[in-house]
Amino acid sequence: MFIGGEWVDPIDGELVESIDPTSGEPWATVAFGGAKDIDRAVAAARAAMRGPWARLPVWERAALLRKLAEAYARRAENLAIIETRDNGRPIRDTRPDFAMQPQTWWWYAALADKLGGSTIPMDPSMHVFTTRKPIGVVGAITAWNAPMFLANLKLAPALAAGCAVVLKPAESTPVGAFELAAMAEEVGFPSGVINVVPAFGAVGGAHLVAHGDVDKISFTGSTATAKRLLALGAPTLKRFTFELGGKAPHIIFDDADLPNAINAATSSAWVVCGQSCALGSRVLVQRGIYKAVVDAFAERAASVRVGLPLDPGTHMGPQANAQQLDKTLSYFDIGRDEGARLVYGGKRITDGDLRHGYFVTPTVFADVNNEMRIAREEIFGPVASIIPFDTEEEAIAIANDTSYGLTAGLWTRDLARALRVADQIESGSVWVNTYRYIRWSVPYGGMKQSGWGREGGLEGVDGYLETKATAVRISGDFPNAYAT
Ligand code: ADP
Repeated sequence: MFIGGEWVDPIDGELVESIDPTSGEPWATVAFGGAKDIDRAVAAARAAMRGPWARLPVWERAALLRKLAEAYARRAENLAIIETRDNGRPIRDTRPDFAMQPQTWWWYAALADKLGGSTIPMDPSMHVFTTRKPIGVVGAITAWNAPMFLANLKLAPALAAGCAVVLKPAESTPVGAFELAAMAEEVGFPSGVINVVPAFGAVGGAHLVAHGDVDKISFTGSTATAKRLLALGAPTLKRFTFELGGKAPHIIFDDADLPNAINAATSSAWVVCGQSCALGSRVLVQRGIYKAVVDAFAERAASVRVGLPLDPGTHMGPQANAQQLDKTLSYFDIGRDEGARLVYGGKRITDGDLRHGYFVTPTVFADVNNEMRIAREEIFGPVASIIPFDTEEEAIAIANDTSYGLTAGLWTRDLARALRVADQIESGSVWVNTYRYIRWSVPYGGMKQSGWGREGGLEGVDGYLETKATAVRISGDFPNAYAT
């Protein structure tokens, strides 16, 4: 583990094997921390906040973030391979993704020396101003579907704000985080600013959330886990940013540019083997084009090459871990039992090279209604649930009939309708005639039970800052309240 600028063994943790999802076999052995290791990391982060990190001029802080961006770019290819090994995301996804990931660091490096406050005109006798202070020690807890992308989206703004971080990656995908620690060491961040402690969620993770000296938790994961975190953080009134699940509507109106809509809807239903919170998993299709869209989904599903993720020809890799595999397989059964029409897939792949891994087929259920569990619950597998609708009002009602509110897509050539529908959909992101437009400079996050706060963009740094208002009397006397 990387704590206080040093590579250390766990005190009360253990060594855990990280499983390659293509084979079910271990491919790395990783140190997991226990409560005492988390305590050490939090103490190192606190010491950094009280020491050299807090005293560093902001331009030097910005320079360190720029150096990290450069180091990240140099290691991008290696990082892509690590992530592909650790969670099975195909190399044709991870390679371009990691080539872009340094941009998050560049963007927040450029912001690090611009986080000033404002002056507030009040009484002539007063000078009133705000400053923006780092919130303090941040626990960053990430999910396994895109571990490094998520870590960057937390660490870059947190460090730009002047916080110190303890990163706890997900138990099934901890390996890439060590590369981040190595880069922090290489570019010369003061010790304790970036600490990396893999841990089981219920052990080290829970200890980090409950810790009295951690000021804020930035969490990406499931809505159910976030509710547990809230309870753990209640005694210390912990601040939280939550980026949680989704069950996004992807609405295709009958005037849509159909070839582009099919490209977007099929890719966003199965991307990363369905393991994305932004997935367009509820495909709402207007009745006039319903059959054409269902047929196009079936045809496209048949053309998806499921295979070994390091093969550049592979479109779709395995589910990232055994637990997720079981969950996805269970929803294949749930969909069938609920009476949805299975148009394609719904199976585990059990032959050839793939038989030992966690591979499933891309899957299409048609004639789904929004009451079914496959339309209400986040599956996190490659399952498209296609729902017919007749009118615009009905589409909006179905789209919003969910406890989630993270992302949404809609396809129409009618500009007024696009703006009207986009305005009424209850989600943090709406994509019109495109999908999954997620960028470091664009705020991302959920309404309803999809989260609290935003990551990315100017809003992404807000969660790591406290605004302090300072009022200074510059003339006149402070009255004696008891004089008369
Ligand atoms: P999933 O259920 O899909 O595995 P989770 O939301 O449980 O996703 O996991 C996301 C992250 O939350 C992981 O890093 C995991 O270790 C962590 N985690 C899980 N349970 C807890 C907990 N009780 N306290 C703190 N962190 C947790």
